[in-house]
Amino acid sequence: MSRYCLLYPHDVPNSIWLMHHRGPTGKLEVRPEYQQLCCPVCKKIEERKALSLGLPNDVHIKLKTDLFSSNESLYIVSARLRSLLERIEPVEMSFFPFPDDERYYAALPNVVYPAVQGDPAFRMFRQCAQCGRWREVVWGTMPPPMDRECQIGMFQLEKPLGIMSIWVVTDCVASSLKNYRPRLKGLFFDEFFAPRLFSPETPVGPNKGGPNKGPNKGHKGDIL
Ligand SMILES: [Zn+2]
Repeated sequence: MSRYCLLYPHDVPNSIWLMHHRGPTGKLEVRPEYQQLCCPVCKKIEERKALSLGLPNDVHIKLKTDLFSSNESLYIVSARLRSLLERIEPVEMSFFPFPDDERYYAALPNVVYPAVQGDPAFRMFRQCAQCGRWREVVWGTMPPPMDRECQIGMFQLEKPLGIMSIWVVTDCVASSLKNYRPRLKGLFFDEFFAPRLFSPETPVGPNKGGPNKGPNKGHKGDIL
């Protein structure tokens, strides 16, 4: 099995909102165009569908890094990083353009490793009775399972505002990004614990170590 790294940006102050905005009263709310994708109970949005609908045209990006996170914890990549990620075969990423800014794209890996209920790799809190999503999913005490290999993929954790994507890349992809010149800005890598290659026939057994090296991803912004 390949060795993997976590790829993440550092938190930046005054980042942008993609699917939320401040309403007339100053309260954080889901933008009207995404309301139809919003669960009436937990208020979570179907993020991938929302991004496919199109990004808002009133978002102004003042940052100059190649990778940063929106306030919802969705990652934004520069056009330069996009073109590098698109060269990785097979291309396993989806990119969503900003209508008025060709410099940046929202990005999501297509290979998603969902949290598995009952797996000690995850701790899950408060499942929504309406849509079935969890209010919060965080790392547990074991390395998480991966049911297939990939060049770039994401674990899908949850926070109250929506998904918290944790990107993983192979060591090979990490080295090519690190070695690219001129140097990419805003990319951080952490050595990743060895994930468990999981199949339904493989019983979950004790495993050494734990996913304790992940980026510190506290909750950002308001909780709806
Ligand atoms: Zn819900």
